[in-house]
Amino acid sequence: MGAEKGRSEEILVPAGYARAFAVRKGGFFTVTDVEGGQIGDLVAFNADDLSEKLSPSHTRLGLHSIKFRVGDALRTNLRRPMMEIVEDTVGTHDMLIPACDEQRYLVDYGVEDHRSCVANFEEVLAPWGLSRAQIPDPLNIFENTAVGPGGELVHLPVLSKAGDRITFRALMNLVCAVSACPMDLNITGGDRITDLVVTIEHGD
Ligand SMILES: [Zn+2]
Repeated sequence: MGAEKGRSEEILVPAGYARAFAVRKGGFFTVTDVEGGQIGDLVAFNADDLSEKLSPSHTRLGLHSIKFRVGDALRTNLRRPMMEIVEDTVGTHDMLIPACDEQRYLVDYGVEDHRSCVANFEEVLAPWGLSRAQIPDPLNIFENTAVGPGGELVHLPVLSKAGDRITFRALMNLVCAVSACPMDLNITGGDRITDLVVTIEHGD
């Protein structure tokens, strides 16, 4: 699970599942939508102090926006810059929606035993000693949401096409996890669940 210097690594995130990985400060990681229309939930932790985490709410205030763009730095719960957006071929991502969990499928759709991003994160982050209670709100890569004139939260179709990607530069040592969201019951996840690929370029 440790990052190695000066090499790249490609991790397949199978449809509906998650993978965790480490990126050292100065390294890069890219999340690519293999077939298009797939949301990737991202959570990240300071590898040197796992109580410090990527925080959508602190990022929103730091940027004075509910959206981010290339050049922006995403913040932690301690308001420190954690990762910088260095490339983004889509430009529509979400920082408002919590990760799906069992209750989302049960309460809102009456479906039991559905896979979920929270359960996925719990599974893949266990080797770092992280429990469900420590998992923060995610950044939802490629998820397309908007706020209506009356403050309505609007779900829109995912715009990413095959090969679309977003690249982050690590501003601290990171432990990250990406879940290829298994939501298949509304417009959020498109008509089917597909793979993502994470490519890590380890820094010097
Ligand atoms: Zn999900």
